[in-house]
Amino acid sequence: MDLTFSQEELAFRDEVRGFIRENLPADIRAKAGRVPYFEKADVVTWHRILDARGWAASHWPKEYGGPGWTAVQRYIFMEELLRVPTPEPLSFNINMVGPVIYTFGSEAQKAHFLPKIRSLDYWFCQGFSEPGAGSDLASLRTTARRDGDEYVINGQKTWTSTAHVADWMFCLVRTDPSAKKQEGISFVLIDMKTPGITVRPIITIDGHHHTNEVFLDDVRVPLANRIGAENKGWDYAKFLLGNERTGIARVGLSQSRLTRAVELAGTSTGHEPSLLQDASFRKKIIEAEIELKALEITAMRIIDRQRKRNDGHPDPASSILKLRGAETQQASAQLALDAAGPLAAPAGGHFPAGASAIDSPFVDADGAASVYLSSRAASIYGGASEVQKNIIAKTILGL
Ligand SMILES: Cc1cc2nc3c(=O)[nH]c(=O)nc-3n(C[C@H](O)[C@H](O)[C@H](O)COP(=O)(O)OP(=O)(O)OC[C@H]3O[C@@H](n4cnc5c(N)ncnc54)[C@H](O)[C@@H]3O)c2cc1C
Repeated sequence: MDLTFSQEELAFRDEVRGFIRENLPADIRAKAGRVPYFEKADVVTWHRILDARGWAASHWPKEYGGPGWTAVQRYIFMEELLRVPTPEPLSFNINMVGPVIYTFGSEAQKAHFLPKIRSLDYWFCQGFSEPGAGSDLASLRTTARRDGDEYVINGQKTWTSTAHVADWMFCLVRTDPSAKKQEGISFVLIDMKTPGITVRPIITIDGHHHTNEVFLDDVRVPLANRIGAENKGWDYAKFLLGNERTGIARVGLSQSRLTRAVELAGTSTGHEPSLLQDASFRKKIIEAEIELKALEITAMRIIDRQRKRNDGHPDPASSILKLRGAETQQASAQLALDAAGPLAAPAGGHFPAGASAIDSPFVDADGAASVYLSSRAASIYGGASEVQKNIIAKTILGL
């Protein structure tokens, strides 16, 4: 098993580092060191710079504007972005709806949506979860009734992150209420400006506005906005959820948080002498570093398997990366919180529209509590930890 990068892969890593060094706008770089989030405008700006280089959609096939990279190159690219850190390419667009459209969409849908998804002219949000339909997603109740060449959609989505700044939502709706629950679902794209849509904020435990409830009342959507066949949406959703776990270990994110925790522990934040001189705290940092190294090696083992298969399908073992990645992100956020000490009291206020602390690698001393609290969600979104354990038990351990 090869757990080291080849000479070509190291040269590629240098190329990515050089590109980021030369092209990341100074104001975004400066902000990244000081605040625990990027604003929507920063995400859009950096996304477009990457798109102009052909790198925004790092795992798309070349024919749809991807760079045609191997699994290893994609891994290196994402980890380098997280280590700097830069804003990340928008996962809803790049990891989720884009691949569904180029795999199952019509030629007209591909021609219209894919360039706008890559350039972030369209910001998508994900309308999957509903009250009573999260882990058990197939229980969703939002209905779409045919009326001429339109669907009339009624129901409620919840936890819809960034819906308040999104242009479009990809959405699962029930088109055949009489069918078995997985068989009556369709996958539709909804323009967020359509009459009948109400977006209501959910303020999460960190005190910020990342996510929303979305109410759909007689929302008219052209049949042409359905992706693939009617009632086959569950297949597309499963495909999408597999891709969602791409790059999920987020080693670079946890590494940045640990680095910040060490910095904070070395400065005077109310602890005298500094926390870094405390043997029990140093032990915690070392344990976290070891866990992170183990996670990185596991990620390398999984991409080594992908390197050999290279068939473009997600590996079921990515559930291990989701599970351990979430735990490591939470542990590193906890250490930064401990290191910030009394300065960790939340500053209060809301992030600007579209901003999110959830994925932020940076913890300013006075934002540590906010990042710690939002990191709790890492073991819920993208498939809860208990559900990952079920997948590991079944598909990997054969229990
Ligand atoms: C911050 C945040 C952002 C989110 N953003 C989005 C978004 O943009 N779009 C979207 O569609 N959704 C989003 N979600 C929703 C997320 O996908 C769901 O919260 C998640 O799937 C869990 O579903 P649930 O909340 O209904 O909890 P439930 O499914 O009710 O789970 C409750 C508890 O029971 C456990 N459990 C459930 N089933 C099993 C089982 N079979 N075996 C063992 N234990 C089980 C779970 O692990 C969990 O601990 C977001 C959630 C959060 C917290």
